[in-house]
Amino acid sequence: MAERDSHADRPRELAERIAAVKARIARACRESDRPADGVRLVAVSKRHPAALIRSAHALGLRDFGESYAQELRDKQRELADLDDINWHFIGPLQRNKCKYVVGNTALLHSLDSLKLAESVADQARKRSTRQRVLIQVNLAREPQKAGVSPEAFEELLLHVTRAPRLSCCGLMLIPPMAEDARHAAEHFRRLRELLAAWQPRLPQLRELSMGMSSDLEPAIANGATLVRVGTSIFGARER
Ligand SMILES: *Cc1c(COP(=O)(O)O)cnc(C)c1O
Repeated sequence: MAERDSHADRPRELAERIAAVKARIARACRESDRPADGVRLVAVSKRHPAALIRSAHALGLRDFGESYAQELRDKQRELADLDDINWHFIGPLQRNKCKYVVGNTALLHSLDSLKLAESVADQARKRSTRQRVLIQVNLAREPQKAGVSPEAFEELLLHVTRAPRLSCCGLMLIPPMAEDARHAAEHFRRLRELLAAWQPRLPQLRELSMGMSSDLEPAIANGATLVRVGTSIFGARER
């Protein structure tokens, strides 16, 4: 409760930030002749207190993105009374943490290996559920970065689309840091092309999760259906 109070003095600021992000999304949709409801805003709440999620929920947001498995679990407990939240898991997932994520998230954005796919499917089986997933692609082949390499992508995609406990709905990308918006746009375009190349065979692939606070406009111009926005909504994270 103390946490909630510490944010109670700035609901107006939060409302303004949310409105500003929605306006950016609407403008980007207009400029690329896309319907405004074709882009879903995922508010990235990692490293922010559950109370802030509660405030954002009260202001109408329903999709929240978390990057750390135990943090997700703790927030889900604290916010259990809000039963219409769609949780998104967007961070790297260790196989032994699948139990905190599978079965209680609307979408896992960061599936990037066969081994992780097996662990997620195992957990989904235990919970008698199907887990919706996106495949995270490391198109730029950045060494330390999460995401499946372009070379390993096809094998993973075919595995995941055939796995009975997994429901693969699209692709996710984090463009290389410290590059300007034009470079980000190039990566977004390539992810869209990859999706388009597979869609005739796998029409269930419809989602493109790409675009964050700094680059949601080029992402939307290149077909993003889910944008993951943290800083522009909630401000700087503590760490
Ligand atoms: C933290 C994070 C975001 C949000 O980034 P902002 O720059 O704060 O908008 C989006 N996607 C992923 C995968 C993240 O880890």
